[in-house]
Amino acid sequence: MKRIVIIAIVLCAAGIHVDAQKAPPIISRSDWKANAPVGEGKKHKIKFITIHHTGTKLRPDLTIETKLKNLQAFSQRDDKLSSGKFKPAWFDVPYHYYIAVDGKIAEGRQIDYAGDTNTEYDPAGHALVVVEGSFDTDEPNAAQVGSLKAIVKWLAKKYKVKGDRVKGHRDYAKTDCPGSNIEKLFPELRKLAR
Ligand SMILES: [Zn+2]
Repeated sequence: MKRIVIIAIVLCAAGIHVDAQKAPPIISRSDWKANAPVGEGKKHKIKFITIHHTGTKLRPDLTIETKLKNLQAFSQRDDKLSSGKFKPAWFDVPYHYYIAVDGKIAEGRQIDYAGDTNTEYDPAGHALVVVEGSFDTDEPNAAQVGSLKAIVKWLAKKYKVKGDRVKGHRDYAKTDCPGSNIEKLFPELRKLAR
């Protein structure tokens, strides 16, 4: 009896170790000194992984911590979009994970809460990953591609998301996001999720 218990403990510990190894390094909300969310979030369960781009100029001069602070400040206030359209104050950063130009990954909105969007689709059930850049013209660099693959693989395993549920924003709403140079990566990303 005692032996069985010991074996079970060893197996369990090994399982935890393997899983932890697969998570890529992520800069947490406390690392970038996130503010608390504003108002009430909507809880959801992850069924899809959906990739976005920021659609902005690459900023290698700013740290990922600063980018997340800036994005959170913009997200949590009423503001105008570049299109002139009004954006209400959101609960938090719209995306769950942010991949910067240097390939670093930061935690955005806590994944238990559905994201936000300026477009016409319901982000409930979607794990939202955003990559810094404007990928109709920019090419994602090797560090960004490596991080995108690592996070898709990890999220797919963790939430049991199959390859055909790894898509881009454009598959759900009228937008160019995440850009053609990210879309080229989808066959490979979907394979990782299998
Ligand atoms: Zn998008």
